[in-house]
Amino acid sequence: MATVTVPGLLTPHELQIIEDGPPPTDYVSIAPVATTPFPFWALLPDDEDSGFVTEIDVPFPDDVGQGAGGDEGPAPSGMFSDDGSAGADAIAHYKPWHIWGSDWGIYLFAGPFRDFAASTAKLAGSPYSHVEPFVMRQLLEHELTHFEFEVIATKFEAIYRTPLYRSYMSERFSRPTRWTGPPWARGPHPGPAEEAIATWREVSYARRKKPKPPAGYQAAASRLADASPPGYNAWRSADTANPHLADLVTAAVATLITDTPQISLPPHALDEDDFSEVPVYWRGDPRLIPSYAPAKDFTRPTPKRLESWLKKNGADIQFGRGKGSHVRFTWRDRAGGYSTSRDPVPKQPCTEIAEIFGFENPRELYLAISNNRVVP
Ligand SMILES: [Zn+2]
Repeated sequence: MATVTVPGLLTPHELQIIEDGPPPTDYVSIAPVATTPFPFWALLPDDEDSGFVTEIDVPFPDDVGQGAGGDEGPAPSGMFSDDGSAGADAIAHYKPWHIWGSDWGIYLFAGPFRDFAASTAKLAGSPYSHVEPFVMRQLLEHELTHFEFEVIATKFEAIYRTPLYRSYMSERFSRPTRWTGPPWARGPHPGPAEEAIATWREVSYARRKKPKPPAGYQAAASRLADASPPGYNAWRSADTANPHLADLVTAAVATLITDTPQISLPPHALDEDDFSEVPVYWRGDPRLIPSYAPAKDFTRPTPKRLESWLKKNGADIQFGRGKGSHVRFTWRDRAGGYSTSRDPVPKQPCTEIAEIFGFENPRELYLAISNNRVVP
């Protein structure tokens, strides 16, 4: 089960990271971590222990057959309810390329996703299988908003010829604006304006007419958005049906990105093709991937999962012998290695490791790892 926290609140693990500084990494390099609430979903590695990461194709609900959402779903845990909801980023993370390089994309967490879909279904009074395809798109709408702001930030970086996005993430993202306080926010605490817009995109998606979502789904989405953390619950500031006011809310985010007053965004008309370029990953048990969202490739392991499989196969693992976060191992007189800071393990080291174990291709290695098979 994944560790899920309320955005804005730090787990002991994250507090430790702030105290110690970021873990050794060969990512594009992690932005400096501020002591104020920051978007840890964007900056910190996922703390999810199933060890499986699968790239999936997410269809539009138009293309999903009625009731194709799989089983009846789990019983809601209570993490997402009228009394309090952990918000979209407890279920899915947008990992920006400014920080994660080639591992960028949207990561959906199997456990929280099914919990959120079940909670939405319960509030809507509709079957889980009918609600789930809409919930998946709803969460993508939220995370794609974060993608869109990274595109906007990249354009500002080109205009101003200076890095902006990483310092925005670590220092200015959570800075209160007038749009995340009263009267828009449900609670007294202001939060990130970008989250207000992302959450509004969720509710706006839930109001779609075609294909028609299950009865009660739209109201359930608004209620869960209202119960979300600071920033998220101020989504109504972007929902006044007044385009001029909505422009001011996005301009407030542009102002935070650039740390300079902005009255508008640079042109950034993104279309469906642009959005479909964003990789979407399922983190967790691949057997729980909804049947309508086919896996693009075989499930790749996280470094932790690869390590336990290597141990099971009797490999001798030498930590700290390699450079930085590199781990070396030997197996039957053959030597290999991989980096612990790339999650999931990239294709190239997987290809080399597959060769060491006598597999034809990395897919055979992925299968052996997911079946926990020992090589004879
Ligand atoms: Zn978000």
